[in-house]
Amino acid sequence: MSILGKTKFLQSLIQGLKTNRKIVIIESDDWGSERIPDNKTRESLAAVGIDMSTNPHAKFDTLERLEDLEALENLLISFKNEFNKKVRITTNFITGNPDYSKIEKSNFKEYRYEPFSVTYEKRDGHTLVFDKLKSLVSQGFLQPQFHGREHINAQFWLEALQNKNYNYLKAFKLGCYGIDAPSKEEHRKNLMAAFEYENTKQKEFIATSIQEGMQLFEKAFGFQSSTIIAPRYVWNSSLENEFKKSGIKHIQTTFYQQEPIKDAYINKYHYTGQISKDSGLHYLVRNVFFEPAYSNDFDWVNQAFNKVKLAFQFHTPAIISMHRINFVGGLDKSNREDSLNQLQKLLKKIIETYPNVEFLSSDDLGKLIESRHVRN
Ligand SMILES: [Zn+2]
Repeated sequence: MSILGKTKFLQSLIQGLKTNRKIVIIESDDWGSERIPDNKTRESLAAVGIDMSTNPHAKFDTLERLEDLEALENLLISFKNEFNKKVRITTNFITGNPDYSKIEKSNFKEYRYEPFSVTYEKRDGHTLVFDKLKSLVSQGFLQPQFHGREHINAQFWLEALQNKNYNYLKAFKLGCYGIDAPSKEEHRKNLMAAFEYENTKQKEFIATSIQEGMQLFEKAFGFQSSTIIAPRYVWNSSLENEFKKSGIKHIQTTFYQQEPIKDAYINKYHYTGQISKDSGLHYLVRNVFFEPAYSNDFDWVNQAFNKVKLAFQFHTPAIISMHRINFVGGLDKSNREDSLNQLQKLLKKIIETYPNVEFLSSDDLGKLIESRHVRN
């Protein structure tokens, strides 16, 4: 991290919401979205020259399977039994995946999608993943929130496909969008920043995607999401009013937002409880990074534990970022096993050091912030 980054990170801890409660929130992005469907697809993409080994998302990231949810459930039940702690994970959902055949039929002119529950069913031929998900939600282990209707920047993607971009077309034929491909825009190594736009028409498309995505969310889970996390932390502040219109009250983010300007992003720094000048929404800011799938020669457990400790020293909630990639074994079973094993160690260390720790979800934290503002 740069010196500026470190200073801003500390500033976000200093200014962040104050509480004497020991609150831990685990935020996990990308649930519901397909990345690399299977190893056969991964090998075919590598065979046409697409880099499938540098980015860990190209190596390990795939739509969650039943065995992934079962392994997670076992871990969470063991904490309930051993420590009487209900560990809650905020699972941020992408509520749709591209409908490849409909997009192709439109000659890449129209973006079409299917609800994420349909993607599970198409792959598995049954609804057990969605059923298990709903059961984990009703038991209070998982709390879904909203990440976007799609993770791909649909408009930039269609443009690349219409221009017959070699890599994106090859990937499209294999039912895949989440690749890293060389581009003339240097700040974009892939097209995963779904909320980025370059003109008013594109902005309207994104506003509609947020409204529809939120409706899909409510239909899937039976309640409205009160928080959002922008894909890759990229959003223009003026989009926050669209979040608000669709029912969002709080914005999850890392300690900086990447605001797109022409050919670059600028960082806007935030802290938990901060009220946005643009929309009046609150920011909920991550201050712990626990992503074992990103690298295996790094001490994730102690690094993350020290950040939790630091957050508590500043009397602010510890908000842990841990993407879906860490929970899935569909491409490589050892990826899931290794990450869950490290998660178990981290949680144990936190619970043993802070026996009164409380695991909340992001929307719970949002409610806590709202109640403070009402009182003030
Ligand atoms: Zn994401």
